[in-house]
Formats: sequence, C-alpha cells, structure tokens
Amino acid sequence: MQPLMPEAITLDKISLGSNNEVHVLRLDKIHAEISGNKWFKLKHYLHDAESQKKQTILTFGGAFSNHILATAAACRLYNFRSIGIIRGEEPKELSSTLKMSTKNGMKLYFTSRLNYKDKQIPPELFNDIPLHEIYIINEGGYGIMGAKGSAEIVKHFDEKQYTHICCAVGTGTMIAGLLNGSHQPKVIGISVLKNYDNHIREITELLDEKTRVTSLDIIKGYDFGGYGKYTPALLEFMNQFYQQTNIPTDFVYTGKLMFAVNDLIEKSFFKEHDGILIIHSGGLQGNNSIKEGKLMF
Ligand SMILES: *Cc1c(COP(=O)(O)O)cnc(C)c1O
Repeated sequence: MQPLMPEAITLDKISLGSNNEVHVLRLDKIHAEISGNKWFKLKHYLHDAESQKKQTILTFGGAFSNHILATAAACRLYNFRSIGIIRGEEPKELSSTLKMSTKNGMKLYFTSRLNYKDKQIPPELFNDIPLHEIYIINEGGYGIMGAKGSAEIVKHFDEKQYTHICCAVGTGTMIAGLLNGSHQPKVIGISVLKNYDNHIREITELLDEKTRVTSLDIIKGYDFGGYGKYTPALLEFMNQFYQQTNIPTDFVYTGKLMFAVNDLIEKSFFKEHDGILIIHSGGLQGNNSIKEGKLMF
C-alpha cells in the first residue's frame, strides 16, 4: 500500500484573476486515498485509539465521503479494523468511494437517513464486535483532536508571508485547526453547504481559549446548489483552472474554493499587496462520480 508522503507537499505559485502571486498548499499530494486534510484530522484519533488499545475504528459518512475512504485506508495502513456507517439504503451498485473503502477492508453498514441523523449504530453490528472494543470518530472527523491535527498544517508554510489563508469548509474542523495554529493571517472559509448558519458556532467549539474568532471570515454563496452539487460552469472553471495551473481540483470542495477565491480577487475583496495562500485540501477521488469526459484531468 502507498505510504503517506507529507514530504510530497508543495507550495505552488499561480496566477489567479488579476493577482499573479497566489500560493497553493498542495495537501492533495500526501496520498491518493488518505487525501489532503483527512490525514491531519485523523492522526490524533488513531493515536488515541491505539493508546486505549481499541482495534476497531467506527465512523460515519455518505456514499461519496472522502472521510470514509480516508478512514478505511488509514486503518489499513495502521492495522485497525474499520467500520463505516453509511447514510441511506444500500444501493444496487456501490459508489466508487465505497468500493475503494471496502477494498481497504472497511465493513459497511447502511442506515436510514433518519437513524443516520441520530448517528445510531445498527444493533446487529454488536454481534461481531462488542462496543467497548470500538473507537468512534465523528462524521467528517469533527472534534478537538481533528482540529489539533489540522493545526499542524500550518507547519507546512511560513505564515508571515500571508495576510489571508483561504480554505473550503465542511464540518469546520480543518479551519478551526488553522485558526488555532496560525497567528497573523486572516482565515477565510468558503462554505460548501447551502445557506448553512452553524459554521461559526461549530468552529468556535473547537477553538483554543487564546484563539480569536475575529480573524475568521466564513463566506457563503459559492456552494453551486449545495453539498456535492455542481453545475456546468463549475466544471468549466475547474478545467480552465487546470489548464492554467496544472492543479487538479475536486467538484465538492476545492473546485468551489478556487472559483470563490478567483471571484473574490476579481471583486477586489483583497488589497493589491495581500499575500494569499489557498489550502488544497485534496478530495480528488470524489471526481470519479462525475461522468467520464467532463473533466480533462
Ligand atoms: C473533508 C474535506 C474538506 C472539509 O474539511 P472540514 O474539516 O470538514 O471543514 C475540505 N476539502 C476536502 C477536499 C475535504 O475532503
């Protein structure tokens, strides 16, 4: 199995809109399946599970979840058993994300959307494994330990060079870590959820006491219809961005992020001499669910 390659992370310099010196932190290069921010979010949970001598990791996610696949692959790499509780009924054919997860040894349990909402664990699961042997990780790796690992992303760049760090926001765990780990730059989060009002509250829950929420800005309106949704205009932008920069993006998170930062630059959201860093948080495997031929990479 491919090892984790944090040494493969690069800082790429690109032109975006009228700004010809935007930097992109390529966390997508760490690993094909444990991609981007997911390793940072998972590592402390896995250490914790190990120190509690738990051999099975259980977590939650949808059929296209990067977190589910990353957990499955990380568990394989570090010799844990893994269980995924998947939202919705079992489909006739598994998504490519779930197929790859099962290839990494993850056992899947499908639950109704209602039971999923309460994060219920199907009782039949305990026929195989008693509860006390299981270590549970929240959906999306949300939590203090996820934020703690994400704070380590800051070690991969020199924060003094930047006035703004831009990233995509789902559960808010990564951005909470970026806030805790950095001191100077403003942190701009592009929400990939539609009209979601709980980001600030969820992020604040994960902040250290000393971290000021005033350096956080969550920007809505770049969700392209909601979580996991896309439009032809988004795919066209992603293709054009790839042609210009040679950087592939995913349609759930980083494509929307790049589109948003480009648009914000065009709308003069930033000042001329601002130093902009964009976090490429990975997720490229998700593009497998798009019809072949629509993306050029
Ligand atoms: C999971 C994920 C995110 C969102 O991270 P949160 O910590 O949940 O906000 C962003 N980008 C990619 C590619 C992801 O897979």
